Amino acid sequence: MKFLLLPIFCCLTALTFSGTASADAMPVTDTHLHYSHDAWDVYPPAEAVALLRKAGLKRAFVSSSSDDGTQMLVKEAPDLVIPVLRPYSRRGQISTWMNDPASLELLTGRLAKNRYAGIGEFHAFGEDINTDVLQGVLALAKKYDIFLHAHSDAEAVDLIFKNYPEAHVLWAHSGFETVSTIRDMLKRHPKLWADLAFRSEHIDGETVDPEWQDLFEAFPDRFMVGTDTFAPERWSYVIPHAQRTRTWLDSLSDELAEKIAWRNSEALLAKYLKQ
Ligand SMILES: [Zn+2]
Repeated sequence: MKFLLLPIFCCLTALTFSGTASADAMPVTDTHLHYSHDAWDVYPPAEAVALLRKAGLKRAFVSSSSDDGTQMLVKEAPDLVIPVLRPYSRRGQISTWMNDPASLELLTGRLAKNRYAGIGEFHAFGEDINTDVLQGVLALAKKYDIFLHAHSDAEAVDLIFKNYPEAHVLWAHSGFETVSTIRDMLKRHPKLWADLAFRSEHIDGETVDPEWQDLFEAFPDRFMVGTDTFAPERWSYVIPHAQRTRTWLDSLSDELAEKIAWRNSEALLAKYLKQ
């Protein structure tokens, strides 16, 4: 625990008056960003990247509908943007893609052409994992040795590991599950990581909720943060999200804060970054 004054001090120093993260602000990796077709005009690639840099991000995991959005950002900032491949070519496919062979064709074609750190974020619940398309997704993840970013319930995550025990899974939104379910899942699956995107129950004012703090301390290597820019207007939250993240992380030990802010995601990226 740090002195009570520290969070306030950090709030003042982490941002300059223009809203830009200062050089001494803790790096944050945002692991849950989308740059889908309707965001391209609102935030053209150079502007989107400028915003990510202004937030003081170390890295930005980006997946988009269509993947062309991700490719534009990678081209603009290969040092910053980590490409993750979505199986969607446009908005509105989250509940139908698993029954459409075109999703698998999209993934197969893109993976042959470009480098990606993972496949996702995709939406799949329960028995969806048993569809031919999802089984194909698992086979592609295995072939390319890349992680899966799954917006899934606990049952689907269990089925992913049952079908593909060596999988590395980043659990989007920690499944919107309770602390006790997340704890059980992390215990059961050593290669499961969990992002905190679009959740706030773990934050209590400027500190961390005690139940969540226990969970973070029990699994210090498994959590990551993310904004989830699921709609163009969500891009305006990227900078405030990074700043708010630095504030609540400051109530944890330095070591744990750094892990959740960026070290855990670096570990997940180790293979991708080595290539
Ligand atoms: Zn998302």
